[in-house]
Amino acid sequence: IPVDPFDLVIFGGTGDLARRKILPGLYRRFCAGQVPEGSQIIGSARSDLDDAEYRLMVAEAIAEFGGVLSRESASLDAFLHRIHYVKSDAKGDGGWKELQATLRDGVVRAFYFSVGPSLFGDLAERLHTFGLTTPDSRVVVEKPFGHDLQSAKALNATLAEHFDEHQIYRIDHYLGKETVQNLMAVRFGNMLFEPLWNSQYVDHIQITVAETVGVGGRGGYYDKSGAMRDMVQNHLMQLLCLIAMEPPAKFDPDAVRDEKLKVIRALEPVDWHHIVRGQYGADDNGPGYRDDVEDPKSRTESFIAMKCHISNWRWAGTPFYMRTGKRLKARTSEIAVVFKDAPHSIFGVDAGRHRNVLAIRLQPNEGMTLDVTIKEPGPGGMRLLDVPLDMSFADALGPDAEEAPDAYERLIMDVIRGNQTLFMRGDEVEAAWAWTDPLIEGWQTRNDVPKEYEPGTAGPEDALMLMHRDGRKWREIK
Ligand code: NAD
Repeated sequence: IPVDPFDLVIFGGTGDLARRKILPGLYRRFCAGQVPEGSQIIGSARSDLDDAEYRLMVAEAIAEFGGVLSRESASLDAFLHRIHYVKSDAKGDGGWKELQATLRDGVVRAFYFSVGPSLFGDLAERLHTFGLTTPDSRVVVEKPFGHDLQSAKALNATLAEHFDEHQIYRIDHYLGKETVQNLMAVRFGNMLFEPLWNSQYVDHIQITVAETVGVGGRGGYYDKSGAMRDMVQNHLMQLLCLIAMEPPAKFDPDAVRDEKLKVIRALEPVDWHHIVRGQYGADDNGPGYRDDVEDPKSRTESFIAMKCHISNWRWAGTPFYMRTGKRLKARTSEIAVVFKDAPHSIFGVDAGRHRNVLAIRLQPNEGMTLDVTIKEPGPGGMRLLDVPLDMSFADALGPDAEEAPDAYERLIMDVIRGNQTLFMRGDEVEAAWAWTDPLIEGWQTRNDVPKEYEPGTAGPEDALMLMHRDGRKWREIK
């Protein structure tokens, strides 16, 4: 899809996110022909840099984080010509007139707030005061979008003072992942699955987002947040919404987001017996969580597992199990739809229990498997076996397929195109916090202490019990 020329200002243009994701992502899109002639990418931050110095920083960031494309130095020069730098201070008046003079009329105008949320208000106000915004200009904001319902409402209100909802793009980079969108294609593009996609046929759903890394250098930030705020309230809830939502009438931003919102609103409060929180212990590969965050008494969770219910016609009675954590056995993200047993086994009890499982792998090796029951080969009688129909997107699409853009690349291009489908609406974020807040308050008032778990495992024993109690089992993290 063609892209119109644009001016994109990256506030926090010298920061970690800009260097690791935004700028290399833009370069890759440039190489794919999607940063058209006449576009400008303007980095802005408090450092004293000129265009040449900033371009050097951008080139270094691309060399370090840009992937294979960074070797194409001829196009790198052409890309760098579209890069500029204007020093500005979100809390002061310096730089704003220069920034205003750099922007052109008649091209798409977008402002990426790649700074902490405490600066959103200052930036929005100055953009307005210095006349940089137009009715069609867009603003992109990063996670975390609030710390709880109250702060999220305050952020929404601040942005709403200067921007209409149709101008605000709240990033959840999970929504930019190829497989996450594929989830919608699989559900709503096939006749095969949707008729079975309900509590009558689905026994339960598992969502796992496992990381092998610990909190590392982000300990200070992470300890104020924890797995619930950092992962569940946004990424896992978004995955849950896409799995559980009703078919929207069309693939259009508000139609999709209306359906997601209904799912969040139908989520029941979670019984605290159905929540397991954990903290990783120490091992030879690194310190334990409490050492990482330098608080020997920290009660913040680096792991959470929970069983949730959606109170609506489609899902009543089907549990959704979600878990996410750090320093686990493998880096893997997966959604598994586990179907019910066939109503009657004509092969007798010896044939055992067999279930279809549709597993959607977000990483690594994006793809899908569908476990199908077949006859075990050989003369041993009618014994059954579950085998996966395994599809790796990379293999299925072949070596000539266009490389899927990284989540950030796709989302930035959606901003330029003005497509909000993959961005969270303000009411969605607030509804997610409204569900999350009482759970967090619950464990705070109970003085709940997270269970220590051994690094390199699937988390605390209690998390395994959460499913065992129900006669179910987590899928292996591998
Ligand atoms: P960072 O600290 O590396 O960079 C912050 C940037 O803001 C710097 O360029 C700094 O110069 C600029 N800045 C700070 N105060 C300013 C002021 N008063 N005026 C103008 N510029 C100012 O932070 P980061 O890691 O790049 O994160 C940016 C935002 O993105 C944060 O909200 C963060 O939570 C979010 N985020 C980051 C990541 C990541 O991987 N780094 C991932 C998801 C979300």
